[in-house]
Amino acid sequence: MSAVLELKDVHKSFGKTEIIKGISFDVKEGEIYGFLGANGAGKTTTIRMIVGLIKPTSGNIYINGYDVQKDFVKAISSVGCIVENPDMYLDFTGRENLNMFAKLYGNVKKERIDEVIEIIGLKDRIDDKVKKYSLGMKQRLGLGQALLPNPKLLILDEPTNGLDPIGIVDFRNIVRNLVKENNTAVFISSHILGEIEQLCDKVAFIDYGVIKSVELTNNLHLKDKEKIQLKVR
Ligand code: ATP
Repeated sequence: MSAVLELKDVHKSFGKTEIIKGISFDVKEGEIYGFLGANGAGKTTTIRMIVGLIKPTSGNIYINGYDVQKDFVKAISSVGCIVENPDMYLDFTGRENLNMFAKLYGNVKKERIDEVIEIIGLKDRIDDKVKKYSLGMKQRLGLGQALLPNPKLLILDEPTNGLDPIGIVDFRNIVRNLVKENNTAVFISSHILGEIEQLCDKVAFIDYGVIKSVELTNNLHLKDKEKIQLKVR
């Protein structure tokens, strides 16, 4: 299995304060990788560096073997990213939103848009205006936007925040199917251990910009869980 995402000794400082203190990890094809940490631990800062919104102070980030700093366009072309409240036009229908994002990506065919509508399970409601959608439906539409270019790497920043239990289960099932069918690599940040445990194969625990441990989720013993729970502020 090859690494789709690789971080090597990445540091990030804002002014004199070092927020990310030399993190390294890799996410392979077909792997669902959790990034768990308390509020302020450095999860969003890490994701912003991965997608090239901010530059690391030092270290390297590779996507599909391309250095995000040196080969940004090639690196980012295989990434889909969804943040907590994805951008969408509430007065447009779900389909119109997808069409618009498809145009932004440039080369997404109509068949791919139809495929994505199937994947996110919004076929029945896709021609309704987004302002009529529940939060869970909006989140699935956001996921659809990220899936349009058929990404090899999907990045989800706190994806189920605020969703009701059914919305959470639906979202998890979509992600699981995606990995099963396309071998997508998925990187999920969260501050909720249960969320990561349910969905991920592996989890890296980040605390004040340092990765404290990386565990296989099905190997997490009660002791580890207690340790982690205590650290999540
Ligand atoms: P949350 O779950 O609350 O989003 P997080 O783990 O994503 O937390 P980050 O948003 O990465 O944490 O923030 C990590 C630390 O970096 C925080 O102390 C935050 O205040 C600081 N930080 C983030 N961005 C900046 C910035 N642009 N300038 C200065 N400090 C920043």
